[in-house]
Amino acid sequence: MTASNVNCFGKLYVVATPIGNLGDMSFRAVEVLKKVDLIAAEDTRHVKMLLQHYGITNKLVSLHQHNEDKASSVLLEKLREGLSIALVSDAGTPLLSDPGMPLVKMVKDAGLDVVPIPGACALIAALSAAGLPVTQFSFEGFLPRTSSARKAFFNERLMLPKTWIFYESCHRILATLQDMAEILPLDRQIVIARELTKLHETIVKTSLGEALGLVKHNDNMRKGEFVVIVDGAVVDKKEQLITSEQVRVLQVLLRECSIKTAVAMAVEITGVRKKLLYQAALIMGKEKDV
Ligand code: SAM
Repeated sequence: MTASNVNCFGKLYVVATPIGNLGDMSFRAVEVLKKVDLIAAEDTRHVKMLLQHYGITNKLVSLHQHNEDKASSVLLEKLREGLSIALVSDAGTPLLSDPGMPLVKMVKDAGLDVVPIPGACALIAALSAAGLPVTQFSFEGFLPRTSSARKAFFNERLMLPKTWIFYESCHRILATLQDMAEILPLDRQIVIARELTKLHETIVKTSLGEALGLVKHNDNMRKGEFVVIVDGAVVDKKEQLITSEQVRVLQVLLRECSIKTAVAMAVEITGVRKKLLYQAALIMGKEKDV
């Protein structure tokens, strides 16, 4: 492919749209959506309403999780023909727990331009107002749907020393917090950010125990869309971290033995230093009995 060829190709614009408040649409996003030849949208009916609001009458094509491989190949051909395309999802930034990854990868791999048009994203909006460390964080998308898989997921992150974030729906928020409270210490700080940028926006930073009570006893706290942010575990930086499997061994032992015996046995089984296992046992919320 020559440089002059590349210049004839169309560009793919990845355009963020509002997550609730139409005022969050950027001027540039409107401009790009007006000027492209095609708009690839997750749900064309949903996006039509947004486009109508801004007087955008461009042609729409559908790109959702069930057709994205095939639709992406077709769109790549259109880009090669010189058409410009905008990718939008139902809300927020495409690809973030939304369709678009196969298309962006395909276009990048083909050496064509992908241009981000940044804007709203529930993850970043929640993080920016959470008051938890943001220098290092991990985005986990949506959690597994079964309780056992969720508990395994929380187990793996019990000792994670950085902030972690996930998306949750109103149908599962209570069950998810209940599972979390079985694995994480109840005094772990979490932030529940619901209905961001909308009329009933609520951002609560509190302990896991209190958050669970709040969601359980207040019907409104189980309505709308949710981002949950969890503070990282406090671990001694000089120590190495322990793996999720080593944490699991310690948890099983703690169920049956005193903290002193459990830690001693875990040292023998895992070879991890006693101080670190002891610290982990305390984080798991056991009473100090040595
Ligand atoms: N791509 C979107 C983004 O940039 O945030 C996320 C799409 S994902 C399919 C939808 C999930 O994002 C919701 O279930 C919820 O967890 C979260 N979300 C979206 N809008 C939200 C809002 N206004 N307030 C809180 N969470 C929101």
